[in-house]
Amino acid sequence: MSDQYTVLVVDDEEVLRLGCSRVLKSEGYRVATAANGKEALDLLAAKPVNVVLCDLKMPVMGALEVLEEVSVRFPGVPVIIMTGLGTVADAVECMKKGAYDFVTKPFSIDHLTMVVRRALEKQLLEERARRLQAEQARNLYNLAMEQSRMHTIVNCMADGVLVTNREGEVVLCNSTLLQLLGVSASPPQPGPLHAYLDDPDFKEAIASLLAGADPDRNRFIAQELCANRIHLRVLSAPFYGPDDQILGTVTVFHDITHFKELDEMKNDFVRMVSHELRSPLAAIKQQHAVILDGLAGELTDKQRELLSRAHAKIQGLLELINDLLDVAKMEAGHGQLEQIPLDLSDILAELVELLRERAASQKVILKLEVPGGIPLVLADRRSMEEVFTNLVSNAINYSPDGGEVKIAAISRGDYLEVLVSDQGIGIEPEELPKIFDKFYRVKSPKTRLVIGTGLGLALVKGLIEAHRGSVDVESAVGVGTTFKVKLPTVTDMKGADGGK
Ligand code: ADP
Repeated sequence: MSDQYTVLVVDDEEVLRLGCSRVLKSEGYRVATAANGKEALDLLAAKPVNVVLCDLKMPVMGALEVLEEVSVRFPGVPVIIMTGLGTVADAVECMKKGAYDFVTKPFSIDHLTMVVRRALEKQLLEERARRLQAEQARNLYNLAMEQSRMHTIVNCMADGVLVTNREGEVVLCNSTLLQLLGVSASPPQPGPLHAYLDDPDFKEAIASLLAGADPDRNRFIAQELCANRIHLRVLSAPFYGPDDQILGTVTVFHDITHFKELDEMKNDFVRMVSHELRSPLAAIKQQHAVILDGLAGELTDKQRELLSRAHAKIQGLLELINDLLDVAKMEAGHGQLEQIPLDLSDILAELVELLRERAASQKVILKLEVPGGIPLVLADRRSMEEVFTNLVSNAINYSPDGGEVKIAAISRGDYLEVLVSDQGIGIEPEELPKIFDKFYRVKSPKTRLVIGTGLGLALVKGLIEAHRGSVDVESAVGVGTTFKVKLPTVTDMKGADGGK
């Protein structure tokens, strides 16, 4: 270990230089020698030296001058003075000038090595302290820079930002947030959440993130809130310390008022256009039916064929209009849903009866496997009819001749599961995530023949989610498709709503 360290022995007496060198080398040090102060300073400038062992009186340059130079040019290198008995007072003077220690000649080997070792230890400790100090200064600088950068980023953001500590108190927010929430003066920080946004759903979201019941580190909660007449899309997530403890939450507020207004305008437009189209189309369809029934005179085969085709197109248009109106209604809000305790087995049985003839005309067998006494769900009857009519109609439409469509309901305790499965054409895996999008239809030679709008499944998903349920699909091409609808049962919904 000590062979990494160099001791510089400075003495005009060669015997002493040699003697010290031998002793120190036997201890494992590297040794350099100089005959006077000037030589010593040249050596110090040329290579790293850890300790200087310097005679007090030398020709050319003595220890006092060496000390002065070392303290200026090589601070941190300890200098030990070697002195005769008669010059101890001078050696003490050297100590005052910054020498680390002195040894009086003649000195013992043990004494010399001990003093050198201590000087080296001091030098190493000072060196380490200097390094730590420099590192600390660097860290503080980096921290200050990071803080300043964060501060600028947060304050330049067009979105509102709010940070809480682990107690749920607000410790940071930007000016955009204060503007969005209409808070004129920034409340004190840390401050209570309600001083910024008094919304029970938001409070609950923050509390649930801080409770950290979910071990998923990528967990976040997305909400849509309305505050100060501004619609906000709100994303909250916890942040963690190095020990994986939740330290607080960060929430970003994005103003979506403009999109909401556009959406509202679009819905109004769709509603208006659809209403205006529906009545004349229904009248045209009725008149076609009268002509096709022969009530307006005999028809030639060609006329009948052309009118039948037009009749089918009008029917398609009317279905599109009805779907558009349903989607617009759904998107306008779920306030109109009249949610009452419903026995889905009745609705499903009626639906099967209603669609049996259509299934038979397409040579599809309908099977209902719903046991008696299934739990009730809190739901809007018309929505449920719409959901299952869409799913069962799709199952019939996308089934081959002789295919079987099965509707089954299973109680799963907190929720009811309704499965609509077919043995039809199936859906390619890459199409599955898209089929619930509005107007999305799978384009293939097999689906080309089925008339549709691509709105049915969007409607199903929207309505089921408005009932706090979910809809999933599993499919294998050429084997069949199963749609799985999950709806909370009445007891569970009471629990979830806290008896509201
Ligand atoms: P569409 O009016 O086209 O039926 P949907 O929104 O109901 O619109 O369905 C979207 C697409 O999903 C359909 O175009 C079809 O390709 C596919 N699809 C829906 N249900 C089934 C099913 N049971 N079997 C195979 N494909 C289906």
